[in-house]
Formats: sequence, structure tokens, C-alpha cells
Amino acid sequence: MSPPQLPGCFSALFQRSSKTHRKSNKDAPATKGPVPKYEDINKSDLTLPCRQMNLCCDFSYAPPEKWWVSEGEEKPPAYSPPESSKDIYRPDVLRTIEHKLDALNSDLRDLSLQIHGHPELGFEEKFAHDLLTNFMSNNGFTVTRHYLGLDTAWRAEFQHSEGGRALGVNSEMDALPGMGHACGHNLIAMSGVGVAIAVKAALEAHDIPGKVILLGTPAEEGGGGKIILLDRGGYDDMDACVMCHPSPGPQQSVSTGSTNAMRPINVEYFGRAAHAGASPWDGTNALDAAFLAYSGISVLRQQIKPDHRVHGIIRPGKDWAVNVIPDYASMQWIIRTATYPELEVFQERVVACLQAAAMATGCEYKITYGLPYYDLHQNTAMGEAFSKIVGYRYGLTTSTTASTASTDFGNVTYRLPSLHPNFAIPTSPGGGNHTPAFAQSARTKAAHDAAIVITKGLAHTGFRLLSDDAFFNQVQCAHKMANDI
Ligand SMILES: [Zn+2]
Ligand SMILES: [Zn+2]
Repeated sequence: MSPPQLPGCFSALFQRSSKTHRKSNKDAPATKGPVPKYEDINKSDLTLPCRQMNLCCDFSYAPPEKWWVSEGEEKPPAYSPPESSKDIYRPDVLRTIEHKLDALNSDLRDLSLQIHGHPELGFEEKFAHDLLTNFMSNNGFTVTRHYLGLDTAWRAEFQHSEGGRALGVNSEMDALPGMGHACGHNLIAMSGVGVAIAVKAALEAHDIPGKVILLGTPAEEGGGGKIILLDRGGYDDMDACVMCHPSPGPQQSVSTGSTNAMRPINVEYFGRAAHAGASPWDGTNALDAAFLAYSGISVLRQQIKPDHRVHGIIRPGKDWAVNVIPDYASMQWIIRTATYPELEVFQERVVACLQAAAMATGCEYKITYGLPYYDLHQNTAMGEAFSKIVGYRYGLTTSTTASTASTDFGNVTYRLPSLHPNFAIPTSPGGGNHTPAFAQSARTKAAHDAAIVITKGLAHTGFRLLSDDAFFNQVQCAHKMANDI
């Protein structure tokens, strides 16, 4: 049996602890405090391959029996849209968006398939970076490659006329090790491009001043690319931001529900080696510390809320032997809660178990914290406008059921009004996000068509943000209420 693999991108972003903590209480590390800054992270680590993922992305928002199941023969959606509706804002603009995206459809499909065919891990999305920046440049956008010091991040912007507001859009690009695009980020990348170009076309055709900014955001699968860009000012000049994500779900459906907050935590225990038979009393057993930490957290699990999660592994020990008292052990943990404030509280309880194990065994320990992904604060005003469009025009049903996934876009939603719909694509039973079957689903024509419908809805909602002052006021109010500003 091959040993468990090293941690993935999250470990590359762990804050480096400056010292090893003794077991005494007075030296116990603070369990709360500022989020680790990207500047404190060893930059060379960012190029580490992402070996172990599956950390964050169960985006399903309905039980499996309700999933849209793949059929052998792909069929287009059966819905016949009404020609117009009094509830649709600016149907003329929607027609502009539809015409633009219909004309661009085969190009967008080609982009998606090319990215799908060249899967790249977080911070290594060079092919996607070049493909997408060239495409945006050819479509009239001003492009900044290798944006804000990240090799595979990029920015494409277009301004029509003077002044106006700025709409942000995100394209994710990274894949999963061994599975390719098993989270469907090829569809996200394509959709971001489609939204930005459709909004550009609408601004020009209807002569509305405003700006659209598309960011290529690396390493969603554990690297926190958006958090880094957020810290570096990449979202500062946006008034709102949109993106979307594919998932299993009922046919013709989309969710604007939230996702979980999440944080990785690593702990290392340092003991002293000794002959396990001759003089075990001379040893300090680091594996025992890991064992006690595991047991302590297992006991803690009974007293936590139903929507809290804590899951961990003991990483393979270096030079472990059965007749030697282990002098080193390390563990990886991930904690999850429905909201970020809850995560901070929960973290204290988990860390107490890690510290207690060190105290009980006499080991030293070091704890390192990964970047936290916040829960999604989906903007309710944007969500309503979006669901109206995709409902009236394309027959989609919108739910607000939360999923247990986590995304670095959550951090963006705490900062500015944002929307991140999860939309259903046809999948096979048991073939949700982060499975090889989902990678197959993400390249089907039916998945592409579903993504295009969402792209049209997001483009229309985004245009409205730029052109409708009253709507933008509602969006701002919703953001302030959700974030208690
Ligand atoms: Zn994922
Ligand atoms: Zn994903």
C-alpha cells in the first residue's frame, strides 16, 4: 500500500510559525488573531504541486435522487421561453446579451474544451492563462498578465464611455490531481469570459458608461488565489462581483445558497527517540501525542453542532520503526462551520485538543494555520434579480439551499456585493464534484449549454448593476445588512 501523500496547496499557504511552542500554558499560541498574510508565506512553496485536494468542493445542493442524471443522448432543455415579460429588466439588453453569447457560443465551447483537455493544478495554470488572456485581448479588453505578482493570475478590463460603476467577474482555471477538471472549472473559466464580453457588448450597444473587470483567479482548489488577490487590492475598484460554479442538482436548477467556512490546521509534535524495548522511559512519544489529539478531537466531535466538521489524518512518520519510540509526528486537520465567526470559536476548541495532547505526553508542538475560506454571503438583491431572469426567460428553478462546499470566493463576498450561483449539470449517480465522472460531465454539451444559460443570467444581472441606480442601491443595502456594516 502506498503511503498517504503530502498535503496539497493549503500546506503551501500555511503561516510559518516562528517558534516551537513548549507544552506549558504560558507558551500556548494564540488561537485567534489576524488571518495569515500572503507576504508571510514562503513564495517558493506556491509552486508545489497540489497533491491532495478534495478539501472543499461538494457543491451539490440537493439529495442524489434529485440530481439531473446524464443520459446517453444529450438533449437540449425543453423549456420554451416567453418572448418577453414585464418582470424582466430591459428585455432589449437581454436580447443583446443573448445575441452576443449565441454568436460566441462555439468559441466559448472551444475555450472550455481546450482548458478541459489541458488540466493544470493550482498556481500552474499557464496554458489557461495564455489561452484566456489572448482571447480577451482579441475581444477588445485591456489585459494585464501575471497579475499582482501571481504568475497565473490575470486581469482583463473594458471601459465604455467615462465614469459609471465597475462590475467584477471571476474565471477559475485549476484542475485536480489525477482527475483533471473534476470540479468543472473549465466551465467557470468559459462563463467568466462570456459574462465579461456580453456585458461589454451591452454597454456599447446601449451606451451605458461603466467598466467590466474579469479576473483570472488561480488555485481555488486549496491555494486561495482570490484571497491573495483580495489582499493585494485586486478587487478594490469593483462595485460588485459575479461568478458561477457547476454541481450536481435537479435538472434546470440553480442555487444561490451559501457554502461552509473552512480552515486547514496542521500540528507537529516533537518528542525524543529511545529504544522501545530497552529504555522506553527515556523516550518522549510524538506518535502518542498524535494519537491523543486524534482521540481528543473524536470525543469533542460528539459535543459539536451538527453542521460543524473536523476531519484529520496522521501524516506518514519519517524514519518510524516499531522498536523505536517515535520522536516526530504530524497531522493535518480541516475544520468547517456554516459561518466564519463560528469557525473562529470552533478553532479554539480543536486547538485545545492539540495542545492537551502535547501536554499529556511531554512533547513540544507547532501549529500552523492555513488561509481560512469564508462562507458565501450571497447578495440577496443580486440573487433575486438573477433568479428572475433565469426563471422567466430560461425556466430555471432557483433554490437557496446551502451546500457543504467551501470556496475562496466566500472571502470576496464579505468584502463587496457578490453572487456565486451553483448550477446543475447532468451527472452520473455518485458522480459529484471531485470524482472522475464529474470530469466527464464537465465536458459534455449539456453541461456547456447549462453554463451558457447561467452566463446569460449573470451578464444581465451584471449589466443591471451598472445601469440601474435604484437596483444598485438595493444591492448595497443587502450587502450592508448581510455584513452588519
Ligand atoms: Zn473543487
Ligand atoms: Zn470548484
